Amino acid sequence: MNIALIAHDNKKKQLINFSIAYKNILEKHCLFATGTTGKLIGEATGLNIQCFMSGPLGGDQQIGAKVANNEMDLIIFMRDPLTAQPHEPDVLALLRLSDVHAIPIATNIATAELLIKALERGDMHWREIIKQSKKHNKK
Ligand code: PGA
Repeated sequence: MNIALIAHDNKKKQLINFSIAYKNILEKHCLFATGTTGKLIGEATGLNIQCFMSGPLGGDQQIGAKVANNEMDLIIFMRDPLTAQPHEPDVLALLRLSDVHAIPIATNIATAELLIKALERGDMHWREIIKQSKKHNKK
């Protein structure tokens, strides 16, 4: 599965700790992240992460493009709801695209825990089926 990791500055520590705690699950998947988040998680965990641009410079939009192309299966996005973000429109665009394409997205630690456990249990296999059928329909 392709998994995107994003954290606003005040939530980066939380996502790093989450990634350490669930490294054994995350390492079985293809990981993507916005620039700073990916760099910090990579350093803390040794996980192999493909980093996009930093969020405020377009990283959220790059992840959104993967959602639109049906190339992202799960998003863990630790948002900071108490701080104004210069790239709020990009954040909203990513949330919107995730809803358009029904991609599971956690925006807080409680939901992130549920999704990662669901992933490990195999509850996300439906994504493989959808990807296969969309590929088939394109032919
Ligand atoms: P960052 O971006 O990982 O580059 O800090 C995250 C964001 O604020 O969207």
